[in-house]
Amino acid sequence: FKINMDEIEVLGELGKGNYGSVHKVFHRPTNVEMAMKEIRLELDESKLNGIIMELDILHRAVAPEIVEFYGAFTIESCVYYCMEYMDAGSLDTLTGGGVLAKDQKEDGAGVTGGDAAERVPEGVLRRITASMIRGLKFLKDELQIMHRDVKPTNVLINKKGEIKLCDFGVSGQLEKSLAKTNIGCQSYMAPERIKSETANQNPTYTVSSDVWSVGLSIIELAKGCYPYPPETYSNVFAQLQAIVNGAPPTLPPGYSDDANDFVAKCLMKDPNQRPTYAQLLEHPFLVADKDAEVDMVGWVAAALDRRAARGISTLNPIQA
Ligand code: ADP
Repeated sequence: FKINMDEIEVLGELGKGNYGSVHKVFHRPTNVEMAMKEIRLELDESKLNGIIMELDILHRAVAPEIVEFYGAFTIESCVYYCMEYMDAGSLDTLTGGGVLAKDQKEDGAGVTGGDAAERVPEGVLRRITASMIRGLKFLKDELQIMHRDVKPTNVLINKKGEIKLCDFGVSGQLEKSLAKTNIGCQSYMAPERIKSETANQNPTYTVSSDVWSVGLSIIELAKGCYPYPPETYSNVFAQLQAIVNGAPPTLPPGYSDDANDFVAKCLMKDPNQRPTYAQLLEHPFLVADKDAEVDMVGWVAAALDRRAARGISTLNPIQA
């Protein structure tokens, strides 16, 4: 079926991204709550229609680890993209973002009980990682695409404890139009990709660049803040330097050797040395996830309570 704006009731704002905002909406004909992303583009009608056609491939992106796509349409110079509503939001707001990092420093990390209670348990970290890798492997094997934008804001979670990826690059035209505004202050790009993009060459990076971004995202999840030092937050140049020339970040203390080894392999500076998705799924860290009992529902509920206590609601999360 085709979705259009007349059938949609806007319920509230879920968040703001780099290119527009995301609203929670109600689709009357189907009785389904959806998330609707608005992407503002300065493009002519034929290019906008091209994007809508390219997005059509998303109807084939049906997997437990992928946020379901319902449809897209354009109004004037905006693309509206309707997808499954994930009622616990994105991973970054769930685990604290920069807020937690600051609190930890003031308390003395690891000393107070409150700090320990907020640390993401290894089982949860493993389950989230396994979902991300399975989702990325699905995109690569079934749709022949790489994600290109793996980061905690693009990993969504719901109260059932399901973890799903969104915002992957299916539309060449859309990617091209967004690329101009691409430089954010917290980069999840692999070193080889930064080198390729800053040299203005044709992109030479491959799917293993996504593996790097997974490694960085897992560390952020475990630490509760972006893994590179705060001095680099406001200085894009220093940050890219640190990623390209510095040692890769590591997990905070308290995680197993398997977890540390897994992350180190994702963050090999040489992309050829990073494992494939199939290899990562065979890694002891993820193999241990298969039979593990993990209370994801309980963890999400507790994380939502903590988020509410910080004054961040699901419907109007404050962006870091
Ligand atoms: P970015 O450009 O940083 O990737 P997005 O525009 O994709 O951000 O999304 C902004 C915020 O909207 C996200 O951080 C998330 O909290 C919320 N959001 C996006 N998609 C959904 C969804 N399907 N369900 C619930 N919340 C969502």
